[in-house]
Amino acid sequence: MKNVVLLGSTGSIGTSTVKVAQDLPDQIRLLGLAAGGNAALLLEQTRKHRPAVISLSDPAKARELQNALGTACEVCSGNEGLLKLATLPEADIVLIAIVGTAGLAPALAAIRAGKDIAVASKEILVMAGEIVMSEARKHGVRVLAVDSEHSAIFQCLDGKPTASVRKLLLTASGGPFRDKSAWPKEKFSEITVERALKHPSWVMGRKITIDSATLFNKGLEMIEARWLFDIEMARVGVVVHPQSIVHSMVEFVDGSLLAQLSTPDMCLPIQYALTYPERAASDRVQTNFPRLGTLTFEEPDEERFPALALARQAGEIGGTLPAVLNAANEIAVEAFVNRTINFPQITETVRRTMAAHTVIPRPTLEQILEADGWARREAARTQP
Ligand code: NDP
Repeated sequence: MKNVVLLGSTGSIGTSTVKVAQDLPDQIRLLGLAAGGNAALLLEQTRKHRPAVISLSDPAKARELQNALGTACEVCSGNEGLLKLATLPEADIVLIAIVGTAGLAPALAAIRAGKDIAVASKEILVMAGEIVMSEARKHGVRVLAVDSEHSAIFQCLDGKPTASVRKLLLTASGGPFRDKSAWPKEKFSEITVERALKHPSWVMGRKITIDSATLFNKGLEMIEARWLFDIEMARVGVVVHPQSIVHSMVEFVDGSLLAQLSTPDMCLPIQYALTYPERAASDRVQTNFPRLGTLTFEEPDEERFPALALARQAGEIGGTLPAVLNAANEIAVEAFVNRTINFPQITETVRRTMAAHTVIPRPTLEQILEADGWARREAARTQP
């Protein structure tokens, strides 16, 4: 039985993780749950799964929850609550699925307390990949991928060193605006929030859905892969695969390509991260091979989607630049969702903020957090 702490239990990844725990009651126990503002769903999850400790962002709402639950469960709040959950002595693994940067401190705390972590929140590795991975090595814990692409690469690598790899190939659906004839660059300024939120193959949270439309999601994943698999950016490629069946591939030095395939369902990579190194039987994902039809692959259109080149640049230069890209993008996505900027201005905001930044090479965590704060202010200040 693995004791799992789940940070971000009320979100898209969080609720899929709860489903996985329900599927495997003899293998997974939800020991701790944390949410942002959705007290009602956290209460429902707590009544059903009986975790020992839960946490909510807002202290007042947390007190209300404690009153509703009595002494059966300890209710914490805020950042201290996240840190407490991440370091619970009985926890075996901490799955981090909080959108944004709030997951970074709990991730480091979990690692330093000797826990394996499963990372959905790609922001953590984008901002502080070098620090997170070196702390994990120091404390002898695993950093397991939840993102379907990185889970696929992890499964294909199967312990092989990066010296045996020619290239990692992340697949991308291409998002809702992949079709150049329907969506030429000139029409990008007409893209509405509603249209950008309609992803062709995955149902996900709002932020990542917009990131999939700009391809910033794939850019963030390139940087995530660079750290998770300790490989330079030049050997991390992207291939567009609209059917989202091949979740990513590894091209080895002898020219052999290994891929991991399944119908798209986040429960599969989540389950693999939580049961690793075992594979647990589950009927949830069924891939009917003859009915898959044609699988197609194409080059990404970097002219219409400059996010990929910006991410490659941030990953290659490194230092504080990936944190700046990530923070500026978060501010720009928020502004787009609030309808204060248009779709192409998301990428423009990121480009401008990156250009204005003085990169600090090999930064400390404090310098990364300072760069994150600076980028948020700069991106907000220079928005049209
Ligand atoms: P959602 O927006 O659906 O969920 C976000 C979760 O974070 C919610 O549970 C939210 O709580 C919680 N949260 C936000 N702020 C805090 C906080 N300060 N303290 C505690 N909890 C907080 O996002 P997703 O599930 O889509 O994505 C989560 C992460 O996983 C992102 O980094 C994303 O990039 C990554 N990811 C997501 C995939 C997907 O398929 N969705 C695939 C691969 C990676 P509440 O709702 O209660 O406010």
